[in-house]
Amino acid sequence: MEIKVVKKVLAANDIMAEKNRQLFAEHGVLAVNVMSSPGSGKTTLLEDTITRLVPDVRPAVVVGDICTTNDAVRLARSGAPVVQINTDGFGGDCHLAAHVVREGLAGIDLSQTDLLIIENVGNLVCPAEFDVGEDLRVVVLSVTEGEDKPLKYPLMFRICDAGILSKTDLLPYLDFDIELAAANIRQINPAMPLFRLSTKTGEGMAPWIEWIKDKVREKRAGTV
Ligand code: MG
Ligand code: ZN
Repeated sequence: MEIKVVKKVLAANDIMAEKNRQLFAEHGVLAVNVMSSPGSGKTTLLEDTITRLVPDVRPAVVVGDICTTNDAVRLARSGAPVVQINTDGFGGDCHLAAHVVREGLAGIDLSQTDLLIIENVGNLVCPAEFDVGEDLRVVVLSVTEGEDKPLKYPLMFRICDAGILSKTDLLPYLDFDIELAAANIRQINPAMPLFRLSTKTGEGMAPWIEWIKDKVREKRAGTV
C-alpha cells in the first residue's frame, strides 16, 4: 500500500512539474534546480553567480529551506528578486515539490526574468526524485565533504546536467582528493560538465558563468 501512495504523490508532482515547465517556456525563462548537501556553499555560490550575471542576465531565485529566511536575506543582497519557501508549512519536506515551487513563483515576475534559480533544500536524496519543471539540474559537492558521495548518492549525480566542486580554496588544508572526487562523478555521469571553483578567490567562476549564460541564450533561442 505504501508504494501506491508514493507513486501517487510522484504522479501528481509530475503533472504540476509539467505546468511549471510550460510556464517557464511561455516566458523563455531558463529554470535551474541547484541541489547539494547542507553546507556545500550553495547560497554563497548563488550570491556570487547572480552578481556576476547581472545585468547581462536577469536572475530570480526561489530558495527552499525547512525553516528560516536566512538564505533569502543573503540572496536578496544581490538585488535579484528572491522568494523564500519554508517547507515547514508543507509538512517540513526535505525537498522542493513542484506545487511548492509553483506557490513561490507567485512572488516573481517571470516576464522580467531570464533565469530562475531554484535553490533546493540541502539534501542529496529526495530532491533528485522530484521534478519541479526545471530545464537543468546542478549538483554542488564541496571539498569539505567525502570524495565518495557521488557513489553513495548516485541518483543525484546521474540526473544532473552539471556538477560543481566548490570551496577549492580550502584544498591545501584538507586531505580531500579532488581528482578522486571527479573520477567518482565521472563514473556515475561520464558526460557531465564539471566546474571546480571557489567564490572566495574567484578561481574557476568564469567557465561556470559562461556555461549558464550559454544556456540562457539557448533557452531564449528555444533550443534548451
Ligand atoms: Mg542555502
Ligand atoms: Zn524530501
